[in-house]
Amino acid sequence: MSGVPLMNGQSNPPKILIVGGGTAGWMAANLMAHCWVASGVEVSLLESPDIGIIGVGEGSTPQLKRFFGYLGIAEQEWMPACHATYKNGIRFKGWSSKPGYGEYFHPFDSDIDLHTQPAFFYNCDVRRHGVDVYAHPDRFYLSAHLAEHHKGPLPAPNFPFNIGYGYHFDSGLLGQFLRNRAVGLGVNHIQAKVQSVQRAGSGELVSVTTDQGHIITADFFVDCTGFNALLIQKTLGVPFKKFADNLFNDAAVAMPSPQGAVIGSQTLSTAMRYGWAWEIPLTHRIGNGYVYSSAFCSADEAETELRRKLGLLDADVQARHLKMNVGRLEQHWSYNCLAVGLSQGFIEPLEATALHIVQETIQGFIDAWELGGFTPANRDAFNQRINARFEGVRDYIVAHYVCNSRSDTDYWLANRSHQAISDNLRAVLQTWVNAGNVVEQITRREMDKYYLPMSWYTLLSGYGLFPDRQALQPGTAKAHRYRLDDIDAFIAGCSLNFQEQAALLQRG
Ligand SMILES: Cc1cc2nc3c(=O)[nH]c(=O)nc-3n(C[C@H](O)[C@H](O)[C@H](O)COP(=O)(O)OP(=O)(O)OC[C@H]3O[C@@H](n4cnc5c(N)ncnc54)[C@H](O)[C@@H]3O)c2cc1C
Repeated sequence: MSGVPLMNGQSNPPKILIVGGGTAGWMAANLMAHCWVASGVEVSLLESPDIGIIGVGEGSTPQLKRFFGYLGIAEQEWMPACHATYKNGIRFKGWSSKPGYGEYFHPFDSDIDLHTQPAFFYNCDVRRHGVDVYAHPDRFYLSAHLAEHHKGPLPAPNFPFNIGYGYHFDSGLLGQFLRNRAVGLGVNHIQAKVQSVQRAGSGELVSVTTDQGHIITADFFVDCTGFNALLIQKTLGVPFKKFADNLFNDAAVAMPSPQGAVIGSQTLSTAMRYGWAWEIPLTHRIGNGYVYSSAFCSADEAETELRRKLGLLDADVQARHLKMNVGRLEQHWSYNCLAVGLSQGFIEPLEATALHIVQETIQGFIDAWELGGFTPANRDAFNQRINARFEGVRDYIVAHYVCNSRSDTDYWLANRSHQAISDNLRAVLQTWVNAGNVVEQITRREMDKYYLPMSWYTLLSGYGLFPDRQALQPGTAKAHRYRLDDIDAFIAGCSLNFQEQAALLQRG
């Protein structure tokens, strides 16, 4: 919203061409138009209706709330248009086989946690020292309670605390909503397929030629062509770093199921034989999918396992099969091109982080260009920041796999026996198991930029990563510093200020 971004040696506002009209393309179009169109920057988006969009990706982090807030779009405006629901967090089922730890909830952080989290951290630390205190995360977080009772995260006005939340939404409808909005902001929408891309001798992109024979020039290009990565990889040749050595999943199968009478307010992530299944409640249906590794299981086997889980073995419901390219680019901004969305990389959707990274990339790029200019140093610093985010998110996702204690298939055994673990992740796991200072380790390594200590404590305790029960010592009065009854009563009292998701969605 501040300065006009100028290309080197130019005095006129640039022409920007976004190629690709999936969620990433339209998010980029909205943010760039919001910030720059009034200053004379011309933003166009070109997409191929024949190729279409990936059309999955229905869960978000709280970052999406900031996206709509920044653009001044009210929930009442976009949520009904996208069959959206509120999301308190993610419930993980069946990832651990330790008794008492069959499932746990990963909340988004909230003001109220200040009152209960010290007890949770304290109990975890005591238990890591081998003392028998209660240390499962769910009883310590209001969001876990809200999700369990299908409540939404918006409190009554007399309850002045912020509760972190994300959304579930129909990704196709979200794309349409964002398209209409961007066009309203002045974005020029072109429907055609890019047939070829032209570069200058300097390496910069100059233009694209469409299947209708039109040549479209621009000063700056945004590659939102999904896994196709037409500009950034196929034209500029930016290398792609695969995460296959520690994230084995490379395929997914998705299918909807009917919504019941009660609309949930959490994503369910259930461990399967060769991966995990998501279950996302929307207002009109439930989105389901199974993310798996094709090295361990065929597409047919995955579909059958998912259908059996959903009770849809013989139902006439079509399944969509997808391949996933997991990893990241070496550079997200190269020459006069920025890659956003699946073209820049993808980490499997276990924590629904893809649109979060999309938003960070666009917003970070806008800030970088406005504040630092179009310089190589600025570009390198930007690329480093985005790469660090990918690696930070990757480490947290990998932790879900290396901490699993399932033994039903080779897939799960392979997931915890490989040694492809980053120094950061190894340090956190070792510190946890050795009863060291995990918070200090996470903050010193700046891993809290991506996942707070709360998320790490929740994951590691949620898997029951503690000394074996028979080795635990009985707790002294000091070990039992916090009374669980008090915490239960506090959370139940807070919860009275929240209504069920279904009622919340019906408000005007
Ligand atoms: C199984 C799965 C589950 C997911 N779950 C989540 C989730 O829960 N939460 C989350 O945040 N994200 C999730 N994602 C990621 C999410 O789907 C994507 O990040 C998001 O949809 C953005 O995709 P995109 O816009 O980059 O690509 P796409 O939707 O694939 O769009 C690509 C666009 O490029 C255009 N295009 C391609 N080639 C050409 C060409 N030659 N000429 C013209 N146009 C072209 C296409 O027409 C299309 O418009 C998931 C992804 C997968 C695979």
